Amino acid sequence: MRYLVTSALPYINGIKHLGNLVGSMLPADVYSRFLRQEGEEVLFICGTDEHGTPAELAALAEGIDVAVYCQRQYELQADVYRQFGLSFDHFGRTSAPEHYELTQHFYQSLDANGFIEEREISQMYSLTDARFLPDRYVEGTCPKCGYGKARGDQCENCTSVLNPTDLLEPRSAISGSTDLEVRQSKHLFLRLDKLSPEVEAWVEKQQDWPNLTKSIARKWLKEGLQSRGITRDLKWGVPVPRAGFEGKVFYVWFDAPIGYLSITKPGPHRPRGATG
Ligand SMILES: [Zn+2]
Repeated sequence: MRYLVTSALPYINGIKHLGNLVGSMLPADVYSRFLRQEGEEVLFICGTDEHGTPAELAALAEGIDVAVYCQRQYELQADVYRQFGLSFDHFGRTSAPEHYELTQHFYQSLDANGFIEEREISQMYSLTDARFLPDRYVEGTCPKCGYGKARGDQCENCTSVLNPTDLLEPRSAISGSTDLEVRQSKHLFLRLDKLSPEVEAWVEKQQDWPNLTKSIARKWLKEGLQSRGITRDLKWGVPVPRAGFEGKVFYVWFDAPIGYLSITKPGPHRPRGATG
């Protein structure tokens, strides 16, 4: 028996508080140490989840390149965990070349099996910033409660889920510019609806799940799984290897879970069998 132990990949943005460490890393560390003492073969991995808009916005606020920002944050986080004595065999990153390769491999495999669909969607474009604005980059007045600083994905005042085009007097979170227009942009969608029967059969097979977890899963399946957009008009992220998608990247929610596998995978950063 060989054991792979992973703890939740911390987001690159900000130094984590003690609760993160106690809640997700400490139990995994204790379990890994116990297994090693028992003479078992264990690989304990973790790493930083580095893509998405919060990292981009934080780098922008500091006026530095997002890759430089992530490098610095990675070193800070890795150092904190070292100082606490966590016994990771490897602490990796989702900005590593191995991660890019594996994410693209998953995409290509999904595409070859008919689970990817191209769609054209309407998105906010900022003429001043010369770029498409992801949901969180658009701010404005909430149409439901009138809160003036609602974001394009959600109003934090009344918790309404929004689309950027719902906002009144929308403006760019980058420049504050109101010079915005709606433009068409091509994106890839993961056909979760096609996977529904398989997922349902798998959920029903699970013996150890708490009842509540199972009932939530059943409720979602009953409502019908929706196709989800897996690409974004951003520069920071895993590039999309498809004609017509130059300058786009995979959405962080698509690539981050693959981090558990890419950080585990042997490669130049972690030769097979090497730990420490
Ligand atoms: Zn609101």
